[in-house]
Amino acid sequence: MVSHANAEVDTDVVVVGAGPTGLTLAIELARRRVGVRILDRNPADFYPGTRGNGLQPRTLEVFHDLGIIDPILATGQEYPPVQVYFGGSPVYQGHTQRRSEPTPDVPYPVPIVQPQWRTERILRERLAGLGVAVEHDAEMVGFDQDDDGVTVSTAAGSSIRARFMVGADGGRSGVRKALGVGFTGTTRPAERLLLGDVTVPGMRRDVWQVWLDPVDKRVRASIWPVAGTDYFRMSAPITADDTPDLTLEGFQRLLTERTHRRDLTVTTLAAPTDYRVSMRLADRYRVGRVFLAGDAAHVHSPAGSQGLNTGVQDAYNLGWKLARVLAGAPDALLDTYEAERRPVAEQAIGLSTELLDDKQAEPDDRTLQLGLSYRDGPLAAGGRGGDRAPDAPCHTADGTSTSLFDVFRGTSPTLLCLERPGEVPEGVSDAVRAYRVGVDLLDPDGHLRAAYGDSGYVLVRPDGYIGVDTRSADEVAAYLTAI
Ligand SMILES: Cc1cc2nc3c(=O)[nH]c(=O)nc-3n(C[C@H](O)[C@H](O)[C@H](O)COP(=O)(O)OP(=O)(O)OC[C@H]3O[C@@H](n4cnc5c(N)ncnc54)[C@H](O)[C@@H]3O)c2cc1C
Repeated sequence: MVSHANAEVDTDVVVVGAGPTGLTLAIELARRRVGVRILDRNPADFYPGTRGNGLQPRTLEVFHDLGIIDPILATGQEYPPVQVYFGGSPVYQGHTQRRSEPTPDVPYPVPIVQPQWRTERILRERLAGLGVAVEHDAEMVGFDQDDDGVTVSTAAGSSIRARFMVGADGGRSGVRKALGVGFTGTTRPAERLLLGDVTVPGMRRDVWQVWLDPVDKRVRASIWPVAGTDYFRMSAPITADDTPDLTLEGFQRLLTERTHRRDLTVTTLAAPTDYRVSMRLADRYRVGRVFLAGDAAHVHSPAGSQGLNTGVQDAYNLGWKLARVLAGAPDALLDTYEAERRPVAEQAIGLSTELLDDKQAEPDDRTLQLGLSYRDGPLAAGGRGGDRAPDAPCHTADGTSTSLFDVFRGTSPTLLCLERPGEVPEGVSDAVRAYRVGVDLLDPDGHLRAAYGDSGYVLVRPDGYIGVDTRSADEVAAYLTAI
């Protein structure tokens, strides 16, 4: 390993890859005033396609905190009803997702469909608002690390020196390969799809259309209207032996054959892909000063829409930890990233494989990712430590309506002091926002106390999980020192 210990540091963190994972991480760092550069080998006008298009409720909560929930909801839509055909004949129309209304603790109960390119655009705009632009046409081609930092080389011949590097560079991650980290799992050659974004004048936009084989009930084609555009996402399974035809004519042929509709014409094709399903998990998420996140660390089937969501939440877990360690917290905090997130990826791989293998299975509440918990992890203390911190409508001291998610929004932990009368324990540092329930936060409708109880302290981490749930003020102070 080359030593660069004396080299000048250009930035705190280099993020390789500006997909949803890298962009979320860069926002998390930039809003904490951590120096960050984010590189992507694609040009600025690259069109990634619709790809990961289901945003799960937990991800919507993350986007609430990041300040982008409004454009996400304004441009996305709930899952449209599905129209199923056997051969060419319509047989069923209905909903694939259970209808749910918001509740005091769950403000975003249902997934939102949003093409990946638009989610990325909204994330990029938020990042630009924080003064950071993605560096396009900037391929990482190698790196060296030493005790003090990482030196990253780009294809254009420049080198960047940083304290840490994060490989958010997708399933074929060059960072992971260069680290020599294994990617354990399988690829299923028989699970193969042709995917592309198409325009088809005259095609229905009010439903998601799925054509099944009347004999074996297997999906033959799926056409999904992409909200706010003229596009449909078309997917059609092919066999392991097929030679994929990624041209417009190839997609036209598949559309006519599989839907039995001779009247439909494909007029545009974008982002055609020959997609093979793999289920793989990185053996490690950290090697020294280099981390893996998103698809670089885990890949699985699209069933259940877990991929993009798991990547965004990796970044949300890692961002605040990197910022705190750069500000002087113990380095061991960074080891908790793998300890907390690798088991979550294992669950996501298991769930998406289960949904892929059991074609009759309906996505259940596990796909929403609201029940994910770090309860058995290294940062969980006390009763509900590690669980997701629920929302609750409440009022500020002057009677203005707010919600806990608005109170939590931002970059520091939040301490809820639930004792009556409320008291902030001594020794709690300025780095935490402390609220006495009943004094600084009012709970006229009882939602806050219904969710959090009426005694002790609950410390909510910057990523919206309960850190410590305790009656002991000393335990709160000790926890804050550890993070
Ligand atoms: C065809 C397809 C369909 C999918 N469908 C679904 C779905 O329906 N639901 C779902 O949840 N998920 C789906 N996924 C998965 C989802 O798209 C991914 O989980 C998601 O994109 C992961 O985000 P990421 O940021 O981790 O990686 P990516 O989005 O892959 O981003 C990685 C970025 O790194 C850049 N990069 C790579 N190497 C370098 C380098 N050396 N230097 C600089 N930059 C580099 C790439 O250009 C890219 O922009 C699909 C994926 C594909 C490919």
